[in-house]
Amino acid sequence: MTLVIGLDFGGTKLAAGLVDLARGTVLARRVTPTPVARGAAASLDAMLTMARELIDGAPAPVHGVGVSFGGPVAADGRTVRLSMHVAGWENFPLADRLSNALGLPTTVANDGDAAALAEFHFGAGRGVQHLLYLTVSTGIGGGIIIGGRLYRGERAWAGEAGHQVLKPDGPPCPCGRNGCLEALASGLSIAREARLRLRRPEGVSSMLAAIPPDALTAQHVAEAAAAGDALARAVWNEAMGWLGIGIASAANLLNPGRVVLGGGLTRAGALLFDPVRHVVARRAIDPDLTVVPAALGDDVGILGGAALLRES
Ligand SMILES: [Zn+2]
Repeated sequence: MTLVIGLDFGGTKLAAGLVDLARGTVLARRVTPTPVARGAAASLDAMLTMARELIDGAPAPVHGVGVSFGGPVAADGRTVRLSMHVAGWENFPLADRLSNALGLPTTVANDGDAAALAEFHFGAGRGVQHLLYLTVSTGIGGGIIIGGRLYRGERAWAGEAGHQVLKPDGPPCPCGRNGCLEALASGLSIAREARLRLRRPEGVSSMLAAIPPDALTAQHVAEAAAAGDALARAVWNEAMGWLGIGIASAANLLNPGRVVLGGGLTRAGALLFDPVRHVVARRAIDPDLTVVPAALGDDVGILGGAALLRES
């Protein structure tokens, strides 16, 4: 049994797991809210405490540490470039700090790359050679597996599926540009578009008008769309159309064996997958391309970190 530690540095939670690397099973886990206001050092301290508990309680020696980080990571797989959520991560030598503190070899990837690798080895991506993974959540991220290995790109910016430019004069994206897929189909974008339309005359008859604008989320839009609300359906289906176009465009470039979609918005189930598959079927060149839900749920970050240790 090869035991490793998988660490998941997210914007809302920190998770650590003891993983059986051959089976891809999490044998024990620790989770705590990300201490966002206290910066990078507090997150690192909290994570080290959880990792030490897992290592001390492990039934056999632990061989390494793999990290899924919620932000861009340098091409060396060791240094964090920055976090959009937590201050203090700029050019942070995360792999070296963890390796020195825990005495184990450590490697780091961004969360989209790590999730792609986890689904490829342990989840909905098993059985293909080439995989495209997208996470559709507050933002949109992704990862690419080519020939069974994670493809990071020359400077580790590959897999940024959310920043495919689909509508150059479109709404602003958190990346500072306009009209990226993320600006058209992420959870934040769906909520923003619904708020905009609720201010127009047609908004008064929508069931979403009862929700305070600041509290309105993509989940509200999904629920109202499922209930037949016209405004919510229009916003939701437009976003799903863009998501389908983004997936088809990326797939036409890569010809993956399968596309796996994870992230909070995929909990909408058929409401998301039906329109996305419809658009992908029309736009993708490969008639056999399939789009399937991710399989690993909340453990995807832990398993993605761990899966990095199968790459070396
Ligand atoms: Zn962007």
